[in-house]
Amino acid sequence: MAAVAQLNGAVNAGLRKGILAAADSPRVQGLVRRHGLRFGAARFVAGETLDECVAVLRGLNEQGLAANTTLLGEGVLEPTQTEAVVSAYREVIDRLVAEGLRANVALKLTHLGLEIDEELSFENLRRLLGQGSFIRIDMEQSQFVEATLRIYRRLREAGFDNIGTVLQAYLYRTPDDLESLLELAPNLRLVKGAYLEPETIAHPRKADVDAAYARLMERMLSSSGHTAIATHDESLIDHAIRYAEEHAIDRERFEFQLLYGVRPKLQLDLARRGYKVLVATPYGPEWYPYLMRRLGERPANLLFFMKNTLRG
Ligand SMILES: Cc1cc2nc3c(=O)[nH]c(=O)nc-3n(C[C@H](O)[C@H](O)[C@H](O)COP(=O)(O)OP(=O)(O)OC[C@H]3O[C@@H](n4cnc5c(N)ncnc54)[C@H](O)[C@@H]3O)c2cc1C
Repeated sequence: MAAVAQLNGAVNAGLRKGILAAADSPRVQGLVRRHGLRFGAARFVAGETLDECVAVLRGLNEQGLAANTTLLGEGVLEPTQTEAVVSAYREVIDRLVAEGLRANVALKLTHLGLEIDEELSFENLRRLLGQGSFIRIDMEQSQFVEATLRIYRRLREAGFDNIGTVLQAYLYRTPDDLESLLELAPNLRLVKGAYLEPETIAHPRKADVDAAYARLMERMLSSSGHTAIATHDESLIDHAIRYAEEHAIDRERFEFQLLYGVRPKLQLDLARRGYKVLVATPYGPEWYPYLMRRLGERPANLLFFMKNTLRG
């Protein structure tokens, strides 16, 4: 049995690498961008417009689920384009407040110009935080981790409490990053990590990532601050529930976060059991890289996607 599980793990790891590598091919991009939303991406993306997204967010709230939304996009290289992204996010935040939705925003610093200039993305984010709503900075590829944590710290030290960020369990550096952030009583989302990273900086084996996740989760839960346990892994979710009960950790101090379209029954089940659950619900026309990461996480998603595309 162990050998079968190991083989399965190796096949999945290989497929994941293949999918993430193929994502950069212009031919694959062209094909998927033309047909993707209609034939499968809609399972993971709440439409291309803010109106479509708001309807989905309302539906989630009505089922007892909180949400965050992201205007999909990353890797912006034109300063003027970041201005458009800031305006779009202003509109998103105003709309979430006006509609009285239990929803906030998660965004990527490379969407706000991190690859152009760290200071530009810092200022862009500071302007958005000025609106008062909570914003979480997603964590991107490893080359952006240092700058992301620097910007998070600067904003906290500038007095912004309405901000959180993300740590990735697959990176060897993360336990040290966590220790240095703890003095800030941080609001952190813990994820396994979605990008293709070299073995020199990230655990290559899933079992090691899972073990690192469990250790980091315990450390976060037993420290001050707020922990968002972002995973669909039921054994880690059960582990968190048991750990919180055994250590009398208040349910207000943590929440579960899952992705829109993934494990919807589990989302509802956790909410019905009285846990805070947030569904990460992105939207927008730039859905291609996001979809490819979701396909990479579960190769069975690729079969589902291809079946729908061929049927169409
Ligand atoms: C709310 C949220 C925010 C995230 N933000 C970030 C971020 O900022 N930076 C970052 O690097 N990564 C982020 N991720 C992605 C994360 O790093 C993982 O790639 C992703 O969550 C898959 O890992 P898992 O924890 O669900 O565990 P896995 O061990 O991969 O999966 C556990 C179970 O869930 C199922 N599952 C997992 N993913 C999917 C899927 N896409 N479709 C269907 N079933 C699936 C698996 O089949 C498996 O049965 C985020 C994930 C979530 C849930």
